Amino acid sequence: MEQKRTLHDAWDREHLWHPYTSTIDPLPTYKVASASGAEITLADGAKLIDGMSSWWCACHGYNHPRLNAAAERQLHAMSHVMFGGLTHDPAIELGKLLLEMAPPSMHNIFYADSGSVAVEVAMKMAVQAAISRSGDHRRTNFVTIRSGYHGDTWNAMSVCDPVTGMHSAFGSALPIRYFVPQPRSRFGAEWDPADIEPLRDVLDKHADEIAALILEPIVQGAGGMWFYHPEYLRQAAALCRERGIYVIFDEIATGFWRTGRCFAWEHAGVEPDIMCVGKGLTGGYMTLSAVLTTRDVADTISRGEAGVLMHGPTFMANPLACAVAAESLRIMREQDMASLVGAMEAQMRRELAPAADMPGVSDVRVLGSIGVVETCHPVDVGAFQRLCVEHGVWIRPFGRNVYIMPPYVTTPQQISQLCSTLLKLVAATAKP
Ligand SMILES: *Cc1c(COP(=O)(O)O)cnc(C)c1O
Repeated sequence: MEQKRTLHDAWDREHLWHPYTSTIDPLPTYKVASASGAEITLADGAKLIDGMSSWWCACHGYNHPRLNAAAERQLHAMSHVMFGGLTHDPAIELGKLLLEMAPPSMHNIFYADSGSVAVEVAMKMAVQAAISRSGDHRRTNFVTIRSGYHGDTWNAMSVCDPVTGMHSAFGSALPIRYFVPQPRSRFGAEWDPADIEPLRDVLDKHADEIAALILEPIVQGAGGMWFYHPEYLRQAAALCRERGIYVIFDEIATGFWRTGRCFAWEHAGVEPDIMCVGKGLTGGYMTLSAVLTTRDVADTISRGEAGVLMHGPTFMANPLACAVAAESLRIMREQDMASLVGAMEAQMRRELAPAADMPGVSDVRVLGSIGVVETCHPVDVGAFQRLCVEHGVWIRPFGRNVYIMPPYVTTPQQISQLCSTLLKLVAATAKP
């Protein structure tokens, strides 16, 4: 009883909305006292190995001495100043580091508040540039692939998968986009040329209404945890370029080595016109995102009707966030990230493989530091998480996907414990 009172807060349950949560029948939430390295400590003292990196973002784990120090240094200089008419070293240093890691054609950077806002900005960039370049005010729509996830603001939501994104809950309020089926050719398997045909059809019919193709390169995250063939990106980009359609890569989840490369476009060698980064950017310390684009897109916008990119958030380039992000990128630059993530991938591949033979499991896949066990039926999240907490791990499944993407500081022993617990709990709960 005592333990329940400290872990599940009644005031919280009554008044605080958690992500995608009912006020009538909310899933339990566990109160956290602190977190350090790859471990989360609950209010009752229980320690959980974190399998989620707090939704892709805590890449160096929690309470990292260098990130803490970067935040403290910046705190004493200034937490924030407006970015209109002012600039500062944290924004400049972060920008330089980002351009070193980004596709070579990226040239201009727009800092935004969150991933969703970065997607809004990227979509606005594409529309402003498309209208400016063609003089055609009909070029305002988007095409995307099903099972995608791009965030929760209005336009970002409009390009999320219509079913998992619950488009029906918003009636006619959401703009209607063109959707093509998700490519079924798996990453690392054979390419099926039929995969690209639906996109070709839509572009043949509607190219003159479309400003851009937006997608998550290689790994579709929250919309289905699916890893697809790089050839799709090569052919999709070629089709778009022939028709004057911009290509937006949403690398908010895939960025910063999650897929084994610094950014997922590298698997295909296809550069986007516009790219969004977020989530891992500050090492999970605070919210910050960035939209990168080519000089051509930036200048095309600047030659257009407005003459400027029409966006400017209050907390743009927040110095505290930029300082921590720059330090996070330096930590990555100083490490051999390819080997580090490669070792995580090999271990997870080996240790999750036995799930493939379990009843109730339909697929097992691993790429970079992302491991997915797909079940035949949706997982009971509340019950699964209760078992996770009892077993000392933190995993939050959604739909039919039980997945882990641990922080890069997770030790091989901790990864083993995550994988073996995941297998044990799937074996105990998945129905054939
Ligand atoms: C999480 C996510 C977003 C939205 O980012 P927020 O910071 O939650 O607004 C957008 N795109 C992708 C691919 C994401 O994974």
